[in-house]
Amino acid sequence: MPMFIDTSPPGQCIFCRLVAGEIPSARVFEDELTIAFMDIGQVNPGHVLVATRRHAATLFDITPDEAAAVARTVKRVAHAVRDTFDPPGLTLLQANGREGDQTVFHFHMHVVPRHSDDGIALSWPRKDPPADVLQGYAAQLRDALARS
Ligand SMILES: [Zn+2]
Repeated sequence: MPMFIDTSPPGQCIFCRLVAGEIPSARVFEDELTIAFMDIGQVNPGHVLVATRRHAATLFDITPDEAAAVARTVKRVAHAVRDTFDPPGLTLLQANGREGDQTVFHFHMHVVPRHSDDGIALSWPRKDPPADVLQGYAAQLRDALARS
């Protein structure tokens, strides 16, 4: 994960300044709700960030329309990355909160071209709960979704 952490106040964050053109960026696409630009960290060539144009810190702060717009832009950018850099794999990454490894608190999704042995790692410590515990989790979520 990138080690840079933006601690700017809301509205003055690095991505808001980038959207406003106050700092330079390598933009690749923009529409009414989203902007896509090269990650200056470039984990692999073609690594792009898709952010909401409006400041919103996390997934929980964006509107359904913004979420849909981000998904559309991510798909368009992913196709362009595939056509341009021809990576054998591609990973989408979207982080929320410090514990979720978010480092810039303005909603964004990484579009990361992937290659074998590219050094990117995400540990995935499986817990494999018993089936009844898993069913309990599912029941709790069904209840929450029914209330939403
Ligand atoms: Zn912002």
